[in-house]
Amino acid sequence: MFRFVSACKENGLCYNRVSQKEEFRMPVTIDKDACIGCGACVGVCPVGALSMDGDGKSACDEGTCIDCGSCVGTCPVSAISQ
Ligand code: SF4
Ligand code: SF4
Repeated sequence: MFRFVSACKENGLCYNRVSQKEEFRMPVTIDKDACIGCGACVGVCPVGALSMDGDGKSACDEGTCIDCGSCVGTCPVSAISQ
């Protein structure tokens, strides 16, 4: 995957690259105050992007998340949005 890059190297080579994955990402947001720590979202994530943090709240590793949205509808208190 590539992030948007615009740069010129010392040899004069200029390049631009845009990653569709980066550009159109819709990462989930977890409302830590609303989370009751049930762990349901952790169990449904297909790539293991969710885990429980030290406060017993769900946390998302955005670098691992593939934006599938499976966890959003699983949360019983609607603490996850996308
Ligand atoms: S959106 Fe999908 S991949 Fe990302 S944390 Fe939720 S279940 Fe996991
Ligand atoms: S499903 Fe909702 S309440 Fe349960 S751990 Fe995940 S974010 Fe928290």
